[in-house]
Amino acid sequence: VPDVLIDRLRERAWRLTPQRRAIAEALAGEHVHLTAEEVLAAAKRVVPEVSLATVYNTLGELVAMDEVAEVRIAGSSSVRYDPNTRQVHHHLVCRGCGLIFDVHPTGVDNLVLARHERFGMRVATVQVTFVGLCSACAESRHP
Ligand SMILES: [Zn+2]
Ligand SMILES: [Zn+2]
Repeated sequence: VPDVLIDRLRERAWRLTPQRRAIAEALAGEHVHLTAEEVLAAAKRVVPEVSLATVYNTLGELVAMDEVAEVRIAGSSSVRYDPNTRQVHHHLVCRGCGLIFDVHPTGVDNLVLARHERFGMRVATVQVTFVGLCSACAESRHP
């Protein structure tokens, strides 16, 4: 299976209109975690008439197809859209500027939640977020 979202969608014979293509192509590359507004801005550079409603509809469809994941980072109110759904990963976030990297920490598979802390839930996935300060933010705070 190809790693690039647009290629995966082509393989699935997803209906590609110019607007939908521009939205899917906005979610290309590595470490991509865009808000709907950021997807809209990128898509507009290709197809100026694309609307936020179309962006939300398309992203919702891609999430339902499991081709894009919704990511919620603690401390940030906006949902971000992540095209890296083929590889289990976690996130490293800069608390200064919000930069997000996909990371693959060791030990996550061994995380155990004691029965009394599951509160009756069946745990489906584990999402680990590492929070830190990127070098640019660290430098601007301590020049
Ligand atoms: Zn930063
Ligand atoms: Zn990610």
